[in-house]
Amino acid sequence: MNGPKTTKQRGINTQLTHGGYDPRDFHGFVNPPVVHASTVLFPDSQTMRTRNQRYTYGTRGTPTTDALCTACDELEGSAGTIAVPSGLAAVTVPLLAFLSAGDHALFVDTIYHPTRRFADTMLKRLGVDVEYYDPEIGAGIRALIKPNTRVVFTESPGSNTFEMQDIPAIAAVAREAGAVTMMDNTWATQIFFRPLEHGVDISINAATKYQAGHSDILLGTVSANEATWERLSDAQLTLGCCAGPDDVYQVLRGMRTMGVRLDRHQASALEIARWLEGRPGVVSVLHPALESHPGHDLWKRDFSGASGLFSFVLEGDAPEAGAFLDALEIFGLGYSWGGYESLAVQVSLSDRTVSARDFGGAVMRLQIGLEDTADLIADIEKGLAAAAALR
Ligand SMILES: *Cc1c(COP(=O)(O)O)cnc(C)c1O
Repeated sequence: MNGPKTTKQRGINTQLTHGGYDPRDFHGFVNPPVVHASTVLFPDSQTMRTRNQRYTYGTRGTPTTDALCTACDELEGSAGTIAVPSGLAAVTVPLLAFLSAGDHALFVDTIYHPTRRFADTMLKRLGVDVEYYDPEIGAGIRALIKPNTRVVFTESPGSNTFEMQDIPAIAAVAREAGAVTMMDNTWATQIFFRPLEHGVDISINAATKYQAGHSDILLGTVSANEATWERLSDAQLTLGCCAGPDDVYQVLRGMRTMGVRLDRHQASALEIARWLEGRPGVVSVLHPALESHPGHDLWKRDFSGASGLFSFVLEGDAPEAGAFLDALEIFGLGYSWGGYESLAVQVSLSDRTVSARDFGGAVMRLQIGLEDTADLIADIEKGLAAAAALR
């Protein structure tokens, strides 16, 4: 909140290194204090009654959460940011803030699965009309807008299959219709895409991923423009959904090095994606920075880079996928991503409705970590050989 405006002109790595906190505010210590707090004392009854001081209670912000949220505001160009206990909470809190019974909400069909689960269960139970749209719909989303459409939820590239959305076109239609556009920007982070500059109202990050960067923290951030900030902030306070100080501190700490880490994730992932293209047993590679990707032009127009997560389609089915995964020694088999280490998983696409299609094999998602690419390639080669042995 209310970050120093001058930092916006600085380069992204300077912002990441210095954003959100001025060491002179705390005795010169380079990092902000970790404030553990519920109660905050007031100097007298008048101040207590009017709550006329900067901090009033632990759920309403501390110097630690301010440091992280201000750093996010500088990166996002947002009016305010909230920190919540997980990336999934960063999805559900804004949806609960803006949707009421009788409202219509549009979700991209390639959405992160737990977001879909929340929409299909809790939002429907609360009386929200949930509808899914094709990720490649662009301005055609106009045909799906109803008088009661309140939220258009986007995620680009799409979860697991990496379809690119025309975010500016969708956001323009939504704004005209009086709907709030939300974007789950976890894949690109604040470094490679700035949602609010492309018409999005609310930018969501699972900071669990690259911001934390070490597979040991759960946290989410939600950054809002002027028009939506007050309502978002109020919903967080009403729900009591605040993040713990140690996790908030660790995420800001992770963000200090996120620029250099992402440079490496980006370069290694692209090298491996290019190497995979055309390999025997590989049907296709789903990575928006590859010229072969159907959304490549949109990615190039709107994004300034790509992170370390992409998928490829392995010839075969569950047995080949299992053989591939079991042969890996460096890649770990596990969910989530954005940490320093490489991961692999076969993804399920069975939840898709309007954009369901056959990819011609097993869709394997790779998170490329900070290891040496020669070692990762050798590991993948073992996996491909194990899968090929079944054919
Ligand atoms: C991981 C993820 C989330 C949720 O983050 P958690 O901290 O694991 O709850 C939300 N959106 C996307 C796109 C993600 O990849």
